[in-house]
Amino acid sequence: MTWKLKPAIEDILKKGENLEDLTTQEALDLMALPLESPEVYALMQTADAVSRKTFGKKGENHFHIGLNVEQCPYNCLFCSLTQKADVFQEKIEFSKEQIIAWAKSAEKDGADGLNLMTTGTYGFKRLLEIGRLLKKTVSTPLVANTRDITHKEGEALLEAGFQGAYHAVRLGEGRDTPFKREKRIATIQVFSDVGLSWANCVEPVGPEHSHEEIVDLMFLAKKHKAAYSGIMRRINFPGSPMEKFGMITEREMARMVAVSRLVMADVPKAHCTHEPHTASLMAGANLFFPEVGASPRDREAETGQGRGNGIDRCKAIHWEMGLDPDLPSNVF
Ligand code: SF4
Repeated sequence: MTWKLKPAIEDILKKGENLEDLTTQEALDLMALPLESPEVYALMQTADAVSRKTFGKKGENHFHIGLNVEQCPYNCLFCSLTQKADVFQEKIEFSKEQIIAWAKSAEKDGADGLNLMTTGTYGFKRLLEIGRLLKKTVSTPLVANTRDITHKEGEALLEAGFQGAYHAVRLGEGRDTPFKREKRIATIQVFSDVGLSWANCVEPVGPEHSHEEIVDLMFLAKKHKAAYSGIMRRINFPGSPMEKFGMITEREMARMVAVSRLVMADVPKAHCTHEPHTASLMAGANLFFPEVGASPRDREAETGQGRGNGIDRCKAIHWEMGLDPDLPSNVF
């Protein structure tokens, strides 16, 4: 057994270790490493060491609450909450009491953030109202995950008590979704302009996406200074139009998590992966999203009863991988 690495890869990893800027070609070279190669393990070790050095032992849990289940007219192909998928016939808006109960329980369990997700046509005023209510009720930082917004709406989110906003230029944006990449980026710029922390994932990754597309979004996250930007794979709900492409494995996801960690260099405050699993915690990830309420990856209206992992499960994975979810958050 020899651990001699290819010199060109070793040079890239040294740059990554020193938090130097990688080039697009260097990131693509890392993405192309065979999963069984010693270089992939060296890549994951380097990303893991970089994260443990910059984030310490902190394991982050940012608690997703999907506020409503509704057939969304935007029909993004990977989403189960669409008119076309026709998974959910009943429209559900989770009650204020239910949302408060979830938020309080997440706070008690040590969640580091509350990410409030809505479908594409959910009322913006209603989101502000829920934000104000939770701001009064819990001390956990609030993150909005909603449609594209204007500066005025960004300021309204801040005033309502939100500290951050999750927003991704998705893989296949404009092809698998009806949205324009430029508009998504304009919204990310709004966050920066008004002072909302930007949360991101390169998502939803499937086997059909080229390395170029994936790496492009990694560099976009770095350019716009995401607070965190790891990797989320696409989950094909039964009957999904994307089923024909299959899904990537957690092992493949771990390789991408490592590449994106090195691309992000000294920019992020954490590094996410979804859904929660161990492999990526050996490759530079430290942030999970426990989930309740609506989820675009589920056929269950309340994902806490379906695919969603609870915070206890997420914390247990952190502990098993030598991270401490009870330390203070590095993100907020
Ligand atoms: S991803 Fe969002 S905007 Fe797209 S269909 Fe699903 S809920 Fe609607």
